[in-house]
Amino acid sequence: MTTTLRDVLAAGAPSFSFEFFPPKTEVGTRTLWEAIRRIEPCAPSFVSVTYGAGGSSRERTVELTKRIVAETTLRPVAHLTAVDHSVAELRQIIGQYADAGVRDVLVLRGDPPGDPRGTWTPHPDGFRHAHELVTLVREVGDFSVGVAAFPERHPRSPDWDSDIRHFVAKCRAGADYAITQMFFQVEDYLRLRDRVAAAGCDTPVIPEIMPATDVRQIRRFAELSNASFPHELARRLEAARDNPAEGHRVGVDHATAMADRLLAEGAPGLHYITLNRSTATLEIHRDVLSNALRTTPKTRSAHAVPAHRSVHPGGNLL
Ligand code: FAD
Repeated sequence: MTTTLRDVLAAGAPSFSFEFFPPKTEVGTRTLWEAIRRIEPCAPSFVSVTYGAGGSSRERTVELTKRIVAETTLRPVAHLTAVDHSVAELRQIIGQYADAGVRDVLVLRGDPPGDPRGTWTPHPDGFRHAHELVTLVREVGDFSVGVAAFPERHPRSPDWDSDIRHFVAKCRAGADYAITQMFFQVEDYLRLRDRVAAAGCDTPVIPEIMPATDVRQIRRFAELSNASFPHELARRLEAARDNPAEGHRVGVDHATAMADRLLAEGAPGLHYITLNRSTATLEIHRDVLSNALRTTPKTRSAHAVPAHRSVHPGGNLL
């Protein structure tokens, strides 16, 4: 029987995973597949494929996920959102994932297309919130289901109490794990984890690691995702604005230090945002593994970066 991410997480070792988005162009597709081929020998626990806000990008998510199943040894986790979908359409997409052999789905409500901060209007025959889609995915097939978590709380949550209450409801609806929004201060993750635990929920919450190597790009992402950006990190990246190799080093060092501490604090894994490139995330991954090996020799086997795959600081930048 095929294992799912639920089984992988239950085994107890930290998971290591990489997030991709479906590219729009031929060149983007080539870049992505180069990254996939560099990441594949590291035997990550899974790779995830984001689900677009609408139109053909959604078909590309399904196609890319199918191709990963067919042409690689990787375990794809397919994202799925409720945006602009009736329940009947959602059932159909879940069926397509099942037909392709995908057993892992990251369930999201999604944001209003065009303006993530706009007013959320559910499809008239669809779902209002992610927990309803969790229930559907679990009903339709034997999937392992993930959900989103927000270390600085969801931008639309009026307070922490309601944020955590709704998060726990998603978990109780059948989520096996959660993956966080990007964040740049470990304390934000630790506070979220403690709040979730205090609410009586033991669903593993995997932190998302975003290498902050380019100050302009990161400021834009941080603004969109509501992640606060530490002043000192911003200052160091600003200072490296005209020196991409230095910016790369600053971002990789910051992410590595965060990842080391998160694992030391007992995080169940690390989920790297790749933006379809592999250099920065593989450097972080290699450094995290060698740091972990110094303290916990058992983490070695499954996730080691092969020695012949050197990753060079200052190479392709994110
Ligand atoms: P929900 O859990 O429904 O929560 C949304 C808001 O509604 C929260 O404020 C919550 O507290 C509140 N709420 C929940 N239930 C109730 C209720 N019963 N009553 C009242 N209020 C309630 N977006 C994409 O479009 N594609 C992607 O591939 C994608 N991938 C992502 C991956 C990760 C790891 C993360 C963290 C986010 C991702 N997103 C993606 C963004 C996500 O869709 C948005 O952040 C969205 O605004 C929230 O989705 P959710 O699943 O957390 O929604």
